[in-house]
Amino acid sequence: YPLGWCESIETLAECEEACGDLHAALAVRKRHAVALREMADHANRSRHYFLESQYRLARLAGERDRAQAESVLHEQHARDLEAVNRRLEEHLAEVETLRRELAEQAMRDALTGLYNRRRIESEWDRMDADAVRDGRRLCVAMIDIDHFKQLNDEFGHPAGDEVLKRVAVHLLRAFRSEDLVVRYGGEEFCIVCVSLNGVQLAARLDAVMKGLASVDRRERRGPSPPAFSGAVAIVREGESFASAVQRADTALYRAKAAGRARIFLASEDVL
Ligand code: GH3
Ligand code: MG
Ligand code: MG
Repeated sequence: YPLGWCESIETLAECEEACGDLHAALAVRKRHAVALREMADHANRSRHYFLESQYRLARLAGERDRAQAESVLHEQHARDLEAVNRRLEEHLAEVETLRRELAEQAMRDALTGLYNRRRIESEWDRMDADAVRDGRRLCVAMIDIDHFKQLNDEFGHPAGDEVLKRVAVHLLRAFRSEDLVVRYGGEEFCIVCVSLNGVQLAARLDAVMKGLASVDRRERRGPSPPAFSGAVAIVREGESFASAVQRADTALYRAKAAGRARIFLASEDVL
């Protein structure tokens, strides 16, 4: 409806009345009233639609805010979870390190820091296989310090401990890392050697004994230089460690009986 239409219609009705056509005036007013009702209805519908839109808009904005808040919460949860995972992984790594340290400690002798015989058990098959692959032979040497009980009795157990540590250091220095130097028990040491043949190994042990003697002479303190008896067995194909040690022990017994401070080869070994 164009602007000013109300006034125009009123004027039209008044003209009809002035002309005495009351019917026509009434008809104009009726149409006017209908038009006004239609306009009011239309305005009501528009208001209703507007309010409904506003309501839906507010609801959607609320949902969007909730979704945003939830996503922030999820991100926080994800970050928390990641941090917990990281701590767990660090903890697992620590446990694994401790486990390895414990396993390593179980194979170490506390006094000398050398490996103990458990290490030979765990390494024997690998060392034997490596030697066979490289066309070499393993040798097992057993060493037993001479008259060690007497040394303990004369100078005391701590002095005996120092001698054990010194012998361990000298033995360790004399061999390569691929060889295994082990405190076998008490005043006995065992070497599983891959880098030398039987004769070379016996000579190397002789040299260790001489080295120990010369160091002690310079120090001129404490017990006299420790000597030891030793025996070398050349490991046979497929031979167990126990069998090689037994052969070395027999030869060691002979070295002791022959006057100590000497290294014997297991007699049946052919070089
Ligand atoms: P042999 O020449 O016949 O080998 O005589 P030995 O005295 O060396 O042998 P024996 O078996 O009679 O004595 C070994 C001694 O080693 C007895 C023991 O008290 C001592 N011993 C064993 N382990 C240790 C240790 O860790 N520290 C000290 N100080 N002594 C030890
Ligand atoms: Mg002994
Ligand atoms: Mg002894």
